[in-house]
Formats: sequence, C-alpha cells, structure tokens
Amino acid sequence: MAKLSVTQLPLDARRVFLRADLNVPLADGAVTNDTRIRAMLPTLRLCLERGAAVVLASHLGRPGGTLDPGLSLAPVAVRLSELLGSAVPLAPDCVGPETLERARAVRPGQLVLLENLRFHPGEEANDPEFARALAALADCYVNDAFAAAHRAQASIDAITRFLQPAAAGLLMQRELATLGRILEAPERPLVAILGGAKVSDKLALVENLLARVDALAIGGAMAFTFTRALGYETGRSLVEPELVETARRTLDESRRRGVGIALPVDAVVAEGPESAAGSTVSIREIPADRMALDVGPLTVGQFGDLIKRARTVVWNGPMGVFEHAPFAGGTLAVAEAVAAASAFTVVGGGDTVAAVQRAGVAERIGYISTAGGAFLEYLEGRKLPGVEALTEA
Ligand code: AMP
Repeated sequence: MAKLSVTQLPLDARRVFLRADLNVPLADGAVTNDTRIRAMLPTLRLCLERGAAVVLASHLGRPGGTLDPGLSLAPVAVRLSELLGSAVPLAPDCVGPETLERARAVRPGQLVLLENLRFHPGEEANDPEFARALAALADCYVNDAFAAAHRAQASIDAITRFLQPAAAGLLMQRELATLGRILEAPERPLVAILGGAKVSDKLALVENLLARVDALAIGGAMAFTFTRALGYETGRSLVEPELVETARRTLDESRRRGVGIALPVDAVVAEGPESAAGSTVSIREIPADRMALDVGPLTVGQFGDLIKRARTVVWNGPMGVFEHAPFAGGTLAVAEAVAAASAFTVVGGGDTVAAVQRAGVAERIGYISTAGGAFLEYLEGRKLPGVEALTEA
C-alpha cells in the first residue's frame, strides 16, 4: 500500500514536524560529511516554499538519553544554514515549554531545528508521553529519515499516534521506490554483492535475496564461513564456526533454486589486519597461521564478470579490510566494476559508500542509499516501523 506523500499534504501556513536523519559525522565541532543533510534538502525546501512553518528534528550519535554537549546539533545548524543560504535557529531542547514557544513562533516559510532527540531517554524508548510532547509542536508530520526507519522510536513511530496525517518525505519515497524496485521488479539479471565482517549479521539478507536474485557474490570475512562449509581450510580468518552448518544449507538451497553463489577463489592473506603487506593464495591454500583479509584478483575478475552481465546490481559490505591499504584492493576493484557496469547499480551501508567514495566513483553509481541498517532490513524483507507508521495514501 502506498504511503501518503509530503507532496499531497496541504502545507501552506501549516506547522510541520519534519523528522530527518541528520546523524552526520563530526570532528572538532564541524560536520565532516554532509551527504545526509543534502539528501533531505529537497523535502525541507518543498515545505518552506509551500509556506509551511517547519519544526525540524533529528538524533545525533548515541548520547544515551542524557544531555551531551558534544552531540549538540549546533554544527548541523551551521552546515544547514550554509546550504540553505539562510539562518537556521537551534532550539535549546526538543520538548518543554520553551521549545513549544519557539515552535509556535516559527513563521510560514521558516524553520527551527530542535536539539538532539536522544538527549531524552523517551526517544529510544518509544515513550508515548515523550512522543505526545513532540507531537504538540506541529499540526502534521513528515518523515524523511529513511536511514532511521528501522527503529521504533518516539519521533519515528509513537509520534504518529498523536500527529496525523503522517507523510513520507521525498528522500523517504525515493529510497523506498529504489529498493522496492530491486525486490519487486528488477531488470534481470539481478546480481547482489555482499561482504563485511559477519555472516550472522547478513544471514536473513542472504536468505531473502536468494529468493530474488539471479546470482549472489559473497566476499569479506563472511565468505570464509562459506568456504569452510565447502571444506576448505581457513587458517586464522574470521569464521563463525557455529554457522558453518547454516552456510552449508544455504549453499544447498542456492543449488536447488539454481541461483549461483560466487565465493572467493583466491585471497590476500597476512598475519593480521595491521600487517604491512599480504600475499595472494588460492582459496585451497590458506596457511594455518594466516588470516584471509581480502579477496584476490581472480575473485575480483569473477565477480566483475557477474557485474558486467547484470542489468541490476546491489552491493553492501566491503570485500576485505579496506580500511588498510594492503587489503583494500578487492573492495576498490569491485567499486570500479560496479561503477563501470551498464546495469542500474545500488549501493548502501556506511562502509560500502565510503569505499565507493574512496575509489572516486560515487558519481557513476546509479543510486547511493543514505541508510545502513534500514537498507539491510528493507532488503531482508522486513517491515520498517518508520514506514509502517505513515498514513496510507
Ligand atoms: P560489516 O559492518 O559487517 O559490513 O563489516 C565491515 C567490516 O568488515 C570492515 O570493517 C572490514 O574491515 C571488515 N572485514 C571485511 N573483510 C574482512 C576480512 N576478510 N577479515 C576481517 N575483517 C574483514
């Protein structure tokens, strides 16, 4: 069922509670990456241009329900005002009599940014009383925080019980439409590339994708639980022994479905992630005293062939310890291959987006999601509380 869109709301002279995800990285009191701020600008501009008085809210970091001055949204207000070209006043809190007064004083076409929602324990607890206090600040609700939509928290979920209608912002709609297309109506072949540290984090994802993709390529540490299931030695690589049997069943299932799972055929091994260099070995020859820290060039070639033949590619998770140069080669090469693909390409997750940016190919990716956890949960086929809570169109 489609959700109500911000474009369908009467906005003129209305007070809008706009929940965005302005959870951006900071250093020395300044925003170091403003991608998420830029991503919600179209929704904010739409509301302002249509004459809404906007009460803008977000969480930032994990203050744990108490006031932490280091996690104030002040640097976000500064960056946002630079992007908007007008002042962005920051309220001292997100609830309470003073905040209510500040929210009521916002003129049509103007905004106030609330202070970090997570300074109050009620936010993460999805507390109805806290949600009611937030709801009192506005006449209607817009959620543009797709990256936080997997969390049932007060400003995302409980608030919609007190503040209706609850509409999706433009970024929320775009993320849902793009990821929805991958799950429901992809151009085929659809190829998924998964990596990262743990199979346990991605098992539900692998299972849901197996039912939908034409091929799955698995790199990163999680691949070695699968190669162990095939009977190969994995040395000191990160393997989850308790999941080897599950990995074996998954491989059986993929054969039954006729979906190829491509696993590394070679790997870059070293003593540990801090080693200055690694050496490339066949997947059959990982020495007992070495860790596999990246996929090797033959693997990159095979994954590259899958990517070349695909019409749709979705990628999450690094192929190796890409934070360290000796083990970044596989991840950067996959980033290049995805960028060079003629397919519609979708990338999500903080590490993967960072890798795409590091490889200098971000402009050549079809769609870069602003989400990590929500991206994975959506592709796992789970319902996101922040989407479920929105009003039906
Ligand atoms: P995730 O958060 O599950 O996507 O995992 C990302 C992390 O996995 C990154 O910090 C990588 O350094 C790590 N990683 C990827 N491949 C390996 C590997 N072969 N061995 C150890 N860590 C890895």
